[in-house]
Amino acid sequence: MKKIIKKIAVITSGGDAPGMNAALRAVVRSASYYKLECIGVYRGYEGLIDGDFKKMDARSVHQIIQKGGTILKSARSEEFKTKEGRKKAYENLVEAEIDALVIIGGDGTFTGGMIFNKEFKFPVIGIPATIDNDIFGTDYTIGYDTALNNVVEVIDKIRDTASSHNRLFFVEVMGRDSGFIALNAGIGAGAEEILIPEEDMGLDRLLISLEHSRRSGKTSSIVIVAEGDKTGKNVFELASYVEKNLPQYDVRVSVLGHMQRGGPPSCFDRVLASRMGVKAIELLLDGKSNLMVGSIANKMVAVELDKAIKENHRINDEILRISDILTI
Ligand code: ATP
Repeated sequence: MKKIIKKIAVITSGGDAPGMNAALRAVVRSASYYKLECIGVYRGYEGLIDGDFKKMDARSVHQIIQKGGTILKSARSEEFKTKEGRKKAYENLVEAEIDALVIIGGDGTFTGGMIFNKEFKFPVIGIPATIDNDIFGTDYTIGYDTALNNVVEVIDKIRDTASSHNRLFFVEVMGRDSGFIALNAGIGAGAEEILIPEEDMGLDRLLISLEHSRRSGKTSSIVIVAEGDKTGKNVFELASYVEKNLPQYDVRVSVLGHMQRGGPPSCFDRVLASRMGVKAIELLLDGKSNLMVGSIANKMVAVELDKAIKENHRINDEILRISDILTI
């Protein structure tokens, strides 16, 4: 029998992503639209365990759509990985008469939510928000587009100094296991080389390609390196390796770091987050649970959490191919 949902709770969890606030706003406002009570939980699963709850209504999320980060705060909770921790969280939810939970975060957040759902049969719906875009079942995660635009904007600036001094810049971007940011920002900013975790270019090929670029008349070059690239060298080691083998180059390194996930979300992320927030509430009202909201071919879809976690979001071969062609 379909469980009647009257009151929901919402958390933001894991790494913060621009657009989490827009998703929260959409969850709270659509809950209000459908006459559901809504509780915001501070600090992700940590706040669920501590009972750090706050009643939210349509007005409590005004003027947050344009803000980066998350007003609910995010946290990584080791305690939620234990059965005792999850039991405390469940008891707090039951005591507050909450019927369902919306989790906004990445694959770790969804793993926790799925285990929680299995243990206590508690309805859970996930909204994918992570700058890495590494979640199966959705073309885009909330925050990815903003991070891409942040990276491209900075690379454009680095390009100015690179070309003024005929320099070769190695720019490290986020992506330990996934090359979405590196590859797409690299194409968008016209990088000469892009090193990602999914493809092993090999150091010899990198040297050949840079030497080829130099001989063909390029006076400055940008190499984008994802944190988890396959060469086995970090960005500083890569730079020294190239400097040693191609002494004609004046090499510099720039590590972009946390600025990539900061700042106001792009319009794309705000709209995506708004659509996903509304869909999450409508799935719960429809008696659905243990699902993640996704966007496939610009349509809102629901994917089993289990699938979203276990399967890989692969980089499109066509994007890899055009990157190869254009970095000639
Ligand atoms: P991002 O991809 O941006 O890092 P994430 O959601 O993957 O976001 P994690 O830190 O991996 O971030 O996970 C967030 C939280 O989810 C963890 O701090 C923990 O509380 C919970 N979690 C992760 N894995 C598990 C697990 N196996 N069992 C229970 N809870 C988990």
